Amino acid sequence: MSTIPEVRARTDTGPPTATPVLEARDLWRSLPLGGQVLDILRGISFRIERGEFVALMGPSGSGKSTLLGCISGLDQPSRGQVLLNGTDITRMKESQLADIRNRTVGMVFQAYNLIPTLTAQENVEVPLYVGDHPGSPGRRAQELLTLVGLGQRFGHRPAQLSGGEQQRVAVARALATAPPLVIADEPTGNIDRRQGTALLDLLEEVRQRTGTTFVIATHDEEVGGRADRVLRIDDGVLVADGRRRSGTPAPA
Ligand code: ADP
Ligand code: MG
Repeated sequence: MSTIPEVRARTDTGPPTATPVLEARDLWRSLPLGGQVLDILRGISFRIERGEFVALMGPSGSGKSTLLGCISGLDQPSRGQVLLNGTDITRMKESQLADIRNRTVGMVFQAYNLIPTLTAQENVEVPLYVGDHPGSPGRRAQELLTLVGLGQRFGHRPAQLSGGEQQRVAVARALATAPPLVIADEPTGNIDRRQGTALLDLLEEVRQRTGTTFVIATHDEEVGGRADRVLRIDDGVLVADGRRRSGTPAPA
């Protein structure tokens, strides 16, 4: 792996100073439901600094996926603001937002969400055809697949890969544009314990090599145990924000 070229998270998407990579300010998400209003998120605020590895934990239905939708710009909060690298994306036009998302946020989903008709390499190339990115998409995809341990699988389609391997392709795709922030929703939810541990080892290695910030929604206590910060959410409210000593990796 030492031959992998530079895949450092880009720093040209915001000021390199103390601006948090992500800031949520009093986020509410409310939906009309049967004549009433359901408040799924109820005033959530936090800041996440560059390079942090954050687990977002809470019971099923507590609002984790809804929160990830808002902070990734895929969904709009009903109230409050989301700042990515200091830029308020909350009321941005979709065209502008799509560009910021492409350069700033990589997403990894529980069900991988790979395109079944494309090869592993083509799946990783997809974000590189959105917007302007230097270099060759093919070469970049191959570098990233090698980084995630799939150097021998460029031409495989998703159905020809194990769950753990598909999730690694999804991680490579999330890293394609070298975003400063990767957001994952239950990334170990569909893979077995051994593959889940291997995936976490990989994310930790990527964090060390590239300085990428990770925010991972999970039920998985192993993820929480390895994160350097755990945000706990219950019924749409942030109930705990626990930090390990800053920058100290979790004990094995
Ligand atoms: P989690 O990811 O923590 O399991 P979700 O964010 O998926 O929680 O959901 C939080 C709550 O909001 C749940 O009670 C869910 O049923 C509800 N919810 C989420 N999205 C919608 C929607 N589009 N319409 C109605 N209710 C929703
Ligand atoms: Mg969820």
